[in-house]
Amino acid sequence: MNSSPFAENMRSIRARIDQAARCAGRVPEDVALMAVSKAQSMEAIRAALDTGQRLFGENRVQEAQEHWTALRASGLYPDLRLHLIGPLQTNKVAAALALFDVVETLDRPDLAQALAAAREKTGRSVPCFIQVNTGEEPQKHGIAPGDLPVFVEACRSRYRLEIVGLMAVPPIDEPPALHFALLAHLARQNGLQGLSMGMSGDFERAITLGATVVRVGSVLFGSRT
Ligand SMILES: *Cc1c(COP(=O)(O)O)cnc(C)c1O
Repeated sequence: MNSSPFAENMRSIRARIDQAARCAGRVPEDVALMAVSKAQSMEAIRAALDTGQRLFGENRVQEAQEHWTALRASGLYPDLRLHLIGPLQTNKVAAALALFDVVETLDRPDLAQALAAAREKTGRSVPCFIQVNTGEEPQKHGIAPGDLPVFVEACRSRYRLEIVGLMAVPPIDEPPALHFALLAHLARQNGLQGLSMGMSGDFERAITLGATVVRVGSVLFGSRT
């Protein structure tokens, strides 16, 4: 067994995830651990890969290219899965589709349109989560909860995108549980299974409330450089 400090830490986070899932009467395998590798060194990323971790999240397209293009081209990690968890500009859609397996931050019609147009042009499309601004914070990305049903419907029938779930980043100054519960409710209402919610400080709470993927950065890697 890999006994690097990273591997130890990884096992302890995974154990906390499994415990939270069991306490909620859920199956641990139904909760995926995403390692958020933004602002991490290549050394840290390799340490994570060495433990067998294969699901990673990145916030920015350019940084993700720097981290992952060569590793992906190496063919050493055929089961690598990269999720985009930061805002996507329409002029970066082609680059994002070339690298990411899942876009978690679909949050507006012009982006849905750009993803559909890129599919027509290149034949490539990826499953998407819709990002919801559960706190309705003006500075934050995400569709307002009230606008979600119409947007989901447009993504499905008008843009023919594969929508697999909802994603949210709760306001930092409010109890996250309210936001996790709201996101879970919205997912049920819209017939969606995936729930990307929970970060270093609150992933156990998110699992209790139904998270299917938790996005963990700092408690896994240490603080960002
Ligand atoms: C940075 C980031 C994370 C990870 O945050 P930590 O608190 O370091 O675990 C998760 N989700 C998103 C959208 C992020 O930007």
